[in-house]
Amino acid sequence: MMRAKWKIKFSWVKVHVGIFGNEMADRLAKEVARNDETSYEYSKIPISALNREAAEALLKWQEQWTKASKAEATKQYFPTVQDRIGTKIQLTAKLTAVLTGHGKTKAYLHRFNLRDNTKCICNEGDQTMDHILFQCTETRKRRDLLKLQLGARRTWPASKLELITKPKKVFTEYIESIDFDQLQQKSDSSLYSAMGDFCFDVTRVFLHGATMPSLA
Ligand SMILES: [Zn+2]
Repeated sequence: MMRAKWKIKFSWVKVHVGIFGNEMADRLAKEVARNDETSYEYSKIPISALNREAAEALLKWQEQWTKASKAEATKQYFPTVQDRIGTKIQLTAKLTAVLTGHGKTKAYLHRFNLRDNTKCICNEGDQTMDHILFQCTETRKRRDLLKLQLGARRTWPASKLELITKPKKVFTEYIESIDFDQLQQKSDSSLYSAMGDFCFDVTRVFLHGATMPSLA
C-alpha cells in the first residue's frame, strides 16, 4: 500500500441526529415483515386515528429524546423533536460533527488520548467545538461575515437553535468553511493527526516485519 502511495483516512462519527426516527421506521418495517397476515386496508383507517398515532409516536420520541443523556451537543441545536422535524438540513461530515460535538477538535481527541492537551492553536482556551465556532480567533474572519449576514438586530452569540433554523444557509456555509485539520496543527507539530497515527503504525509494522528473521 505504501509503495502504491495509498492514502487511507478513517473517520467515525457517532450520530444522534435522527436516530430515533430511523429506529422507529426500522421497527415498524420489521413488524410488518414478521407478520405475513398483515393486510392493512389503509384507506379505511380514519384520518383522526392516524393523527392520534402520529401524535403518540411524536410524544414517545420526545420522551426518549428528553431522557437521552448522551446527546448534549445535539440537544442545544434541537431541544425538541419538533425542532428537528421542522428543520430540513443536508447533513455533511462537518455539519454532523458540529451538531453532535463529535468532531476533530483537540478537546474531543484528547478524551481518547489522541492529543496530549486540549489547548487551541490560538492560545485562547480549550479547543472545543463551541470555541471554534464562537470564540476562536482563527475562525473570526469568517464568523464576522456570518454576524454581518445575521444583521444588526440579532444578538450574538445567537442561540444554536436559531442558527440552525433561521440563517441556516449562512451558518452551514460557515461550518463548511472551517478547516478542522488546519486547526489541529501549527504549535502542535510533535503530535500526529489521525492520518499520521495510522501511517506511523503502518510504518512501524512494516519496519518490524521487514527486520524479523523469519520474514527475511
Ligand atoms: Zn482557538
